[in-house]
Amino acid sequence: MKTWDVIIIGAGIIGLSLALSLRKQGLRVLIVERGEPGREASHAAAGMLAGSGAEIPPPLGVLAEESARLYPEFVHELEDESGIKVDLRDDGTVLVSSDGSFPESAVRLSSEQLSSLEPGLAVPGRGRPDLHESGEVTAAYLSERSVDPRALVTAAIKAAHHREVDVSSGSEVKSLLISEGQVTGVQTEKTSYSSAIVVNCAGAWSGCIAPDRFPVRPVKGQMLAVVGGPVLKHVVRSEKVYLVPRGDRRLVIGSTLEDAGYNKQTDVNTIQQLFHAAIELAPGLAESKVHEAWAGLRPGTPDDLPILGETSTSGYFVAAGHFRDGILLAPITAQVMTRLVLGSSLGYDLAHFAPSRFQ
Ligand SMILES: Cc1cc2nc3c(=O)[nH]c(=O)nc-3n(C[C@H](O)[C@H](O)[C@H](O)COP(=O)(O)OP(=O)(O)OC[C@H]3O[C@@H](n4cnc5c(N)ncnc54)[C@H](O)[C@@H]3O)c2cc1C
Repeated sequence: MKTWDVIIIGAGIIGLSLALSLRKQGLRVLIVERGEPGREASHAAAGMLAGSGAEIPPPLGVLAEESARLYPEFVHELEDESGIKVDLRDDGTVLVSSDGSFPESAVRLSSEQLSSLEPGLAVPGRGRPDLHESGEVTAAYLSERSVDPRALVTAAIKAAHHREVDVSSGSEVKSLLISEGQVTGVQTEKTSYSSAIVVNCAGAWSGCIAPDRFPVRPVKGQMLAVVGGPVLKHVVRSEKVYLVPRGDRRLVIGSTLEDAGYNKQTDVNTIQQLFHAAIELAPGLAESKVHEAWAGLRPGTPDDLPILGETSTSGYFVAAGHFRDGILLAPITAQVMTRLVLGSSLGYDLAHFAPSRFQ
């Protein structure tokens, strides 16, 4: 019977990046994917690489910054191996805030600077003297990158084939195979696969695989993409909405944070509300047309931190729960999980992310 050095459950960006990294170390890797590779959260994401954003929980700061730093190299390798361009952009992010609160690393912008950086935006306070009364600065610039997650995942799938990572699609892992406290493989509906190391990268579903249950829950995000409006150069984020330009002139508008179980349906009213919030921010968008609307399920955890490490079952690892930052965190997750699997020195303290914190 064929065996592998490592079996990875789930072909999202986390499982794919880890598979590529382990393969580079010469390990034989099988990814077991329930559906089609790369079609869940990693397909739905906006692709902001907000390494120093205010939304990054403090214990994640070092990993997030390092992952943001690794991104150009990570993308370069994927593009090289796949021949697919993944639209990594480094024009930065414009933050618009009604109360002038920005992360420390952001550079405050005057109305004039904002107008010249991103002319399509409604200048805060124009026609709204109430916003200017305090003299607060209401816009700022952050040096951050963005990427097209769909192109990124497509490139990772192609690179995985190119590097001879085995992929079994349409096979859902039902449970782990364990003998005397050591993992020996995975059981799907139809068959079983053998390996002494298994890594659970099943995103929002990672808590559903027996016997270890992690408190990972789906957090739904609805999004839309519009075409035909003004072309923005920067990612723009306000309290209500964010706008992420793509190289193909689509503009992605997001997003909601909903507790809706595993329901991925979009709601017309919610999509309209997001669109209206975007038009408030960039009035020219009133001319644009909705091209697509979708929803995805972020893998959330009780403390908003990912789960990275070995479980109490020897050989069974988890790399899941990346919530709002899994696209950003893919390169560093692949790096630290590869080191964990190989038993080499980590270079990071992963105590905050230990699977045992929930047990
Ligand atoms: C609307 C939205 C916007 C987002 N925006 C951003 C952003 O701007 N920046 C950012 O960094 N992140 C963003 N994210 C978060 C990011 O998308 C996720 O954190 C990341 O995609 C998680 O990757 P993953 O590989 O863990 O999960 P997924 O991509 O969901 O992959 C998990 C895979 O596991 C498979 N699977 C599940 N159960 C099983 C099983 N039992 N057997 C076999 N296979 C299984 C699934 O089919 C799936 O393919 C966003 C997410 C959403 C929904």
